[in-house]
Amino acid sequence: MKIKRFSFNPFQENTYIVYDEKSLDCAVIDPGCYFPEEQNCLLQFLQDNNLHPSKVLYTHCHLDHCFGATFLAEQFPALKFYGHTNEQENINIAEQQGAVFGIDFQQPPSISHYVFDGEKITIGNNSLTVIETPGHSAGGVCYYCENEKILFSGDTLFAGSVGRTDLFGGNMQMLIQAINTKLMTLPDDVTVYCGHGYTTTINEEKHGNPYIS
Ligand SMILES: [Zn+2]
Ligand SMILES: [Zn+2]
Repeated sequence: MKIKRFSFNPFQENTYIVYDEKSLDCAVIDPGCYFPEEQNCLLQFLQDNNLHPSKVLYTHCHLDHCFGATFLAEQFPALKFYGHTNEQENINIAEQQGAVFGIDFQQPPSISHYVFDGEKITIGNNSLTVIETPGHSAGGVCYYCENEKILFSGDTLFAGSVGRTDLFGGNMQMLIQAINTKLMTLPDDVTVYCGHGYTTTINEEKHGNPYIS
């Protein structure tokens, strides 16, 4: 499984393209491209690699993770949007989310497939398992590839930090509980691809993250 990371929009959100080189099966995790040059950059990468994404996988639907959804839906009309049912509310209040941050936020498409804890989402020969980790957002999830020991943590877990819980649907107690019981129990050598900032590992966060006991 190949991974390409982009850092997009004024929130410096990480958008990931996950794909299988043989089958060219491809998903976009949290499409945050906002400015036209960012949209072009994403599209160029897809074209250069002959990729036609079939799915968008949302870790959650705060604005910085969905800015590029409408653009991608226009480019790839068959695209399906995967996210937790509790995140649809964030899509519904897109305009309000934009207003809070003083930024135009075009209404994204609705979630077309509701993911659930333990669901396996296939990408080529690999699969990503959905891990529900509410707390940063009410329907926050992580995507875990057991084969490749890779976790996409969204804004649940960062290198040296955790997601803020003062936004739409946040709850600090739930967040810490989800991290401790569902992420810190993964193998130490799992690489964590975060929604913002640097990549880390479960082991590094177990020992160096001040929020985790
Ligand atoms: Zn967020
Ligand atoms: Zn974010």
